[in-house]
Amino acid sequence: MTLMTRDAYLTSIGRLDNRVFIQGERVESVPDHPISRPPAQALAETYEQAAQEDMKHLFTARSHLTGETINRFTHIQQDVEDLIKKILMLREMGRKTACCFQRCAGLDCMNTVYAITHDLDRELGTRYHDRFVDFMKYIQSNDLVPAACMTDTKGDRSLPPSSQEDPDQYLRIVEEKKGGVVIRGAKLHITGAVNSHELLVVPTRALREEDRAYAVSFAVPADTRGVTFIYGRQPSDTRRLEEGRPDVGNLYYGGCEAMVTFEDVFVPEERVFMKGEYQMAGRLVELFAAHHRASYGGCKVGVGDVLIGATAAIAEIQGTEKSSHVRDKIAEMIHLNETLHAGALASAGRGYATPSGAFAVDPLLANVCKLNITRFPFEISRLAQDITGGILVTMPSLGDLDNPEIGHYIRKYLTGRKGENSEKRLRILRLIENITLGTGAVSYLTESIHGAGSPQAQKIMITRLADVESAKTCAYRLCGI
Ligand code: SF4
Ligand code: FE
Repeated sequence: MTLMTRDAYLTSIGRLDNRVFIQGERVESVPDHPISRPPAQALAETYEQAAQEDMKHLFTARSHLTGETINRFTHIQQDVEDLIKKILMLREMGRKTACCFQRCAGLDCMNTVYAITHDLDRELGTRYHDRFVDFMKYIQSNDLVPAACMTDTKGDRSLPPSSQEDPDQYLRIVEEKKGGVVIRGAKLHITGAVNSHELLVVPTRALREEDRAYAVSFAVPADTRGVTFIYGRQPSDTRRLEEGRPDVGNLYYGGCEAMVTFEDVFVPEERVFMKGEYQMAGRLVELFAAHHRASYGGCKVGVGDVLIGATAAIAEIQGTEKSSHVRDKIAEMIHLNETLHAGALASAGRGYATPSGAFAVDPLLANVCKLNITRFPFEISRLAQDITGGILVTMPSLGDLDNPEIGHYIRKYLTGRKGENSEKRLRILRLIENITLGTGAVSYLTESIHGAGSPQAQKIMITRLADVESAKTCAYRLCGI
């Protein structure tokens, strides 16, 4: 089986014996818990789309490892077209779910570890790449989700891993045993962790020789003994617990992150892809960052599409869609959103082959794309809220419509223009509220700043990658120096 169905995926996640806690309580089945069901459904959509005839050209690919048709979310990119199709696929997913659908961090991490294990073997004489290829074949043939586990807790950020008072502030090898290693530490903000079959762990920063124990990459099944998931809270998440869930805004989907702790977890040798090669940690982080920063110019743009659509709809309902300033603001939203997409597509269009044969995006353009992502979704959200008016945060609950004492007041006074009705108006407003203030804002706003690295990380890379010297030469030549 190389393509799993949506329902089979949800069943497989529900059956995992992973140790998940939500608000202090152990959860038996993640897709069946009201708080974590929408994120599971969002990820499941990556399976559903691959089964749709009109989406197969984007959501499936031919594996260069097995020759089989696989889900593109497990594909090692083989050319520029693959890089572009990934961005287009992510935009499509953003349009369908209006949230973080979680499967691309693992995809970007697999492409990174594939390239880096090849570099390691070539430059340092190790034997990791074949192991990783075996892991990839397993993932592709079974259509599984590995979560990318990168960010460490970092303790005192002025100190490197090996100088921390508590050495576990960065995930590390605590013991080498016959046939494997023992791991301790925690990874933060792990996107889709509770909806993943496997955990693919990589270092979070460049390392020095004394940090050797922290230079580790490996994969373990999500229900491995010693692994615990502590689910991240989101604004308005308990609206999902209310009777009938009238005010969730996004009825079907959501994103999710979790803290993942590793308490002396044994990893067998065949699942270890880096063990002490500190020299390669920085390159790994930069390659992953480039892949994932470009991805944001797909997924966030798709969410932007939904927000622009919802804002245009509310302008119509309220009778403001023809006013020149509203048209101008919607044009501005589109301009910003398409600028984000352009950066991602450009980074893919200028992609290159790594020595492993896997393709990677242009890192400068990917970082420029992501730096824009740290800003434009906020401006797009501001314009959306400008057009909705204050009713966005003062409206009654949709549940109030059913109350015989007050429902008629809402129907009378919150209709908008003739022919519209208050339920429609409130539903659209709730969706805008979800994306710009609620659970959806975790995906669309805060994640846009910090996901795939915070703005300063992009500034550092842009400064390093830009060729200012040759630009100076152009200037000198033109003014006769
Ligand atoms: Fe995918 Fe976007 Fe979520 Fe990253 S933030 S995992 S690119 S949907
Ligand atoms: Fe992310």
